[in-house]
Amino acid sequence: MTVRTRFAPSPTGYLHLGHAFSALTAYHFAQDHGGDFILRIEDIDHTRCRPQFEQAIFDDLAWLGLKWETPVLRQSEHLTDYQAALDRLRDMGVLYADSRTRKGQAEAALSAPQGDEVAETTPAPPAWRLSLDAARQHLGARYDALKFNDNPARPEINGDVILGRKDIGVAYHLAVVIDDARQDITHVVRGHDLFDATHTQVLLQALLDLPTPHYTHHALLLDDEGRRLAKRKGSKSLQDYRNAGLSPEDIRTMLDTAPKAQA
Ligand code: GLU
Repeated sequence: MTVRTRFAPSPTGYLHLGHAFSALTAYHFAQDHGGDFILRIEDIDHTRCRPQFEQAIFDDLAWLGLKWETPVLRQSEHLTDYQAALDRLRDMGVLYADSRTRKGQAEAALSAPQGDEVAETTPAPPAWRLSLDAARQHLGARYDALKFNDNPARPEINGDVILGRKDIGVAYHLAVVIDDARQDITHVVRGHDLFDATHTQVLLQALLDLPTPHYTHHALLLDDEGRRLAKRKGSKSLQDYRNAGLSPEDIRTMLDTAPKAQA
């Protein structure tokens, strides 16, 4: 088996040190196993993604010394595939329409890494939710046996997540499992902030007859005050460091010595 890892950023802002850590962790995992490293652009949310952020991802990762397979898969170019999977799940009877307000939907939704954070109170077009009850019925005994690595998968911790959105078509969970399978990813190496998401993704893999890769969730980098780094909180971007004259080697040293936490 050839090991294949991926780094799958969403171009909704400039990459910060946390992204660099994630990308390098996945990259070195592949290298250590004589495997392949894939870069995937997760840009289904056209309301938040910007071309300049995508370009910056390529520039920043190349500057750090990473190399990846080309052409790079851009999720925005595969929307019909995600839609087909959504239709398949609907035909299977495991989706239901939710016409609550956007705020109501958002409050009930898992705070996925992109999207689902809408705060308006206006009536929303129906969203399509995954029914865990229907999924359990559909899978029978397989539902209780779901697992990743040695962890039992417990999709209940996320509840009935939104998989179909009128504004952008599909939600993150669905696109990510389709592409991890399409790209033959054997090892998903990503931050611990996505550990909970894995429970739902493993269920989707079972429903769609997709393989479950091995998952590694690495510790998250913290800032000097012990908070998680985040684009929206104004953490310094890799470009900021580059413009300030730091080298890729300086960045690697910072990553090695930065405080880290599991959640
Ligand atoms: N696109 C997601 C993000 O930027 C990451 C998806 C993943 O690694 O599974 O947060």
